[in-house]
Amino acid sequence: MMVLTKKMIEIRSILQKVDQSNSLTLPSIVVIGSQSSGKSSVLEAIVGHEFLPKGSNMVTRRPIELTLVNTPGTGEEYGEFPGLGFRRITDFSSIQRTLTELNMAVTDAECVSDDPIHLTIYSPNVPDLSLIDLPGYIQVVGQNQPLQLKQKISELCDKYIQPPNVILAISAADVDLANSTALRASRRVDPRGERTIGVITKMDLVDPIRGASILGDKQYSLRLGYVGVVSKAPPTQGLFKIGPANLMSAIAKHENDFFSSHPLEFGPDAGVNVGTTTLRKKLMNVLEQTMSASLQSTSNAIRQELEEATYEFKVQYNDRPLSAESYLAESLDAFKHAFKQFTEEFGRPQMRELLKGELNQKVLDLLAARYWNKPITDLSAAQIDPDRITDLPKADPNSLYWRRQLDASASALTKLGVGRLATTVVASALQSHVDQLLNNSNFAAHPFARQAIIEAASTILNEKFYSTSDQVENCIKPFKFEIEIEEREWSQGRQHVGEVLKKELYDCEAALNGLETSIGGRRKMKEVINFIDKTRKGDIIVDGDGRSGAGGFSASLLAKGREAVFLRDRADIISMRLMAVKSKQCASVKNKYFCPEVFLDAAASKLASTAVLFLNVELLSEFYYNFPRELDLRLGRHLTDDEVEKFAKEDPKIRRHLEVIRRKELLELVLEKMDSLRKLEGRERERLTSG
Ligand code: GDP
Repeated sequence: MMVLTKKMIEIRSILQKVDQSNSLTLPSIVVIGSQSSGKSSVLEAIVGHEFLPKGSNMVTRRPIELTLVNTPGTGEEYGEFPGLGFRRITDFSSIQRTLTELNMAVTDAECVSDDPIHLTIYSPNVPDLSLIDLPGYIQVVGQNQPLQLKQKISELCDKYIQPPNVILAISAADVDLANSTALRASRRVDPRGERTIGVITKMDLVDPIRGASILGDKQYSLRLGYVGVVSKAPPTQGLFKIGPANLMSAIAKHENDFFSSHPLEFGPDAGVNVGTTTLRKKLMNVLEQTMSASLQSTSNAIRQELEEATYEFKVQYNDRPLSAESYLAESLDAFKHAFKQFTEEFGRPQMRELLKGELNQKVLDLLAARYWNKPITDLSAAQIDPDRITDLPKADPNSLYWRRQLDASASALTKLGVGRLATTVVASALQSHVDQLLNNSNFAAHPFARQAIIEAASTILNEKFYSTSDQVENCIKPFKFEIEIEEREWSQGRQHVGEVLKKELYDCEAALNGLETSIGGRRKMKEVINFIDKTRKGDIIVDGDGRSGAGGFSASLLAKGREAVFLRDRADIISMRLMAVKSKQCASVKNKYFCPEVFLDAAASKLASTAVLFLNVELLSEFYYNFPRELDLRLGRHLTDDEVEKFAKEDPKIRRHLEVIRRKELLELVLEKMDSLRKLEGRERERLTSG
């Protein structure tokens, strides 16, 4: 018959995973008793090991859901904490330590918690049982304990002693039964004493006649009866403590010695039940009967629950199957697919454009610093003065000044660190594209995977960064000495820089308009600009730097005015240079000293094209090849099942979907097991009745 209990306990454990609220469960044996009634000693005598927390300071603060699994034919005894993932602890003192820590994690202020600790013990010496140890009832509240502690313990116990659980009410023989808190509590929920087993501990402490009369108690009669035990281990002899391995037999012997020395009171004809072995058997029988009795009702409840889960699965999730692994694999595939598409859209031309854009800005800065920084006095004047921007169109190619200007500009351009600039531009473009792909992927809702993907990208890019920068820098080296521009390149540059200048002009004017609004209109801006122009010409002397305001203008207005003047001048220069670039004079590379804009643009294009050739080989192709592999490494095979599960559940939608499926699967499994169990039970009954 015992195989039934084993299977039912198995089902009970699965049900615990499905449902934490205990609405779907098979019965268990709940152990209650006052502090020091000998509750722990009884449990340890049943298990045959010392493993429960010891001490005077309320050491049991959480329910301990103890599952005993009989493993016949094996010599090994060990415990597992399934909730913590602690496997096969063979040292029972280590189990005791863990239990103590888990209990003591509940603060003194809180004192008890209803969050159960799950512990499973496997041994050839234990019966298949499911027991729940609860904090002991207390008589007096201790100094550091909350006043309502008594109440809290009592409420926690009440929660567990509800039907269909069996109550194991522990009372000590040396305390009047009328004062037994355990019996009083059981009476409240089981007034007819139908599912309570009375255990009387410390039988050795009372006179045998009195002891025997307690066991035959009629005042508090229980259908399942009383069992008397002496579960305290016999006193240690000398220095030798009783080893855990023989605790069970030591207690059995001790009890046997005691009870058999009083045959009249406790012998076979006395009509009382005594001894831990008897108790163990009784527990097995009672649990099995109780479990069988609730098999039908529990399986009905499960069937109903399953129907609900099935309905939810159909309505909410369209019966779409999903597992954490399949979700991860699909998400990863989709991401890699999107990445592949991106690789087809982002190649040499795109890199070149990015880099050229960056260099355009540098060219504008260089021009501003070397050519456009001279004051324009009169745009139409054609005076021969090298300090005048207006002279540029007439720059004499033989003049050392204009040669130096252009050489210095070209040299500044080639030496600005193109290798590093180009690599940075492309690497950050790749990184931000990966970000974009991420945002549009399933991974957007998964911080863990997101992080892994971003790291995958940056690892590859960082690894390649220095060698790529160096390579690019090396390959543009010749341009540091000479830049040969052909007519075709020149005319492309001329056309292109025209657009760049137009855009710059447009930006300047837009900024100027913005300033106008913030200054408070065209007239006001004109007034400020006039004032600043006059101070610049020296017509007005302003004390200090005008930071605190001058000419009736506030300091902030003056600052805006200065910015407006700068933008206006820059716009003037750019329009003039735009005209120059369009003029015939700039039509040929021969006039390069007149047209530094065109020359530098053409030079920047050469740099960009050359850099891109190497970037393509050193960085882009490498990245395109390695990134998907790195993704597989980080998110593929080497993740553990738990990590995959954790990943999938980061998305609340997916979590709910997975939970419904899991619940459904577990309920189906349980139901299947229950059905076969009921058949087995039926056959067993037939066999017993026919035999
Ligand atoms: P708990 O607080 O209810 O878990 O009680 P314990 O199992 O820790 O026992 C309280 C005290 O009673 C301990 O000192 C035990 O050694 C002692 N004790 C437990 N059972 C017996 C018994 O059957 N006989 C005797 N003499 N002492 C016992």
